[in-house]
Amino acid sequence: MKKIMVTGGTGYIGAWVVKYLLDEGHTVRVTVRDKSKTEKTAPLEAVAADTKGTLEFWEADLLKPGSFMEAMDGCEVVYHLASPFLFGNIKDPYAQLINPALEGTKNVLDAVNKTDSVKRVALTSSVVSVYGDNIDIRQTENNTFTEDHWNTTSTAKHNPYNYSKVLAEKEAWKIHDAQDRWSLVVLNPGFVMGPSLTNASGSASLTFIQDLLSGKQKMGVPELYFSFVDVRNVARAHILAADNPKAEGRHILVSDCMSMLEFSNLVGEAVNGKFQLPKNELPKFMLYLVGWTQGISWKYINNNVGIPVNLDNTKSKQALGLEYIPIKDTAREHANQLIEGGIVG
Ligand code: NDP
Repeated sequence: MKKIMVTGGTGYIGAWVVKYLLDEGHTVRVTVRDKSKTEKTAPLEAVAADTKGTLEFWEADLLKPGSFMEAMDGCEVVYHLASPFLFGNIKDPYAQLINPALEGTKNVLDAVNKTDSVKRVALTSSVVSVYGDNIDIRQTENNTFTEDHWNTTSTAKHNPYNYSKVLAEKEAWKIHDAQDRWSLVVLNPGFVMGPSLTNASGSASLTFIQDLLSGKQKMGVPELYFSFVDVRNVARAHILAADNPKAEGRHILVSDCMSMLEFSNLVGEAVNGKFQLPKNELPKFMLYLVGWTQGISWKYINNNVGIPVNLDNTKSKQALGLEYIPIKDTAREHANQLIEGGIVG
């Protein structure tokens, strides 16, 4: 059994990664900013109780150089997931997104460079490191994004979350390429949905579906297209990628591409019309008028609304052996978890 460090293990995706590692019997060191926040640690302790693995919490902060050294000491594998995932009104993109993503990646990988026991790093990037706006698909050869594409259109002002992810992934490859002791494998998930093991995450994945079910979007949703993937597939892909020494490079993790309304309709089918879900798409002129209240700029509208996306997930299936859960099942199980947990209703 291995000693493994996971950053962001208290988060939405991280909790599933930690669960699968504990199921295999490993010693899992989860880094948290503040160990005394039991609302973050308790869900993982509950998960650990039903597994044969050993769970440990260690304090570390993405923004504090050197803070991952202690937790990493003696670990063979490092999963680096921690990074803020926020959409909408971002007041300070550097403080809220870019610094934690970029400095955090530098700090974690600097610690890896100084920790001889580490042989393998799995990094959670995103499809937004592959492309910035949906309109970028017009520059692709087959109207499809692949692992060969990079986001070249995001900035601190325009799509700052996407910018934070592409900067962090590029930095990771740069640090990796400057040495030859440890290997790096990167996962690039689409928009992650599916049941959560924790209620203490502020992930945009969770606010998105909660907003749908709470009736916040009942007037309609923008005609926006996303690539969706189940959280359990994403977590499993991390482990398959880290375990397989032949897995290399980037891996797009996407089950299906569809509009917000189509996804919402899948949620609606699952809850039998009990919630005030959106029934239509908002006209573009309305988004121009009111989008700014939710941090949606005219540039974002022009470059994304009404433009479908398509991503190639072949590599994840062939290199990792991943079998995708249909998004219909993901939507149903996520909605049921929120209802049964009393989070919506
Ligand atoms: P969560 O918000 O649930 O998790 C984020 C994690 O990052 C938390 O565990 C949080 O720890 C940690 N974190 C944030 N800031 C800091 C900091 N300054 N120092 C230390 N830890 C910090 O998000 P997700 O689980 O959704 O996202 C996890 C990863 O997956 C991110 O890298 C995200 O970019 C990526 N991703 C997510 C997608 C999605 O749809 N959800 C899609 C593609 C990629 P703490 O408990 O201390 O707050």
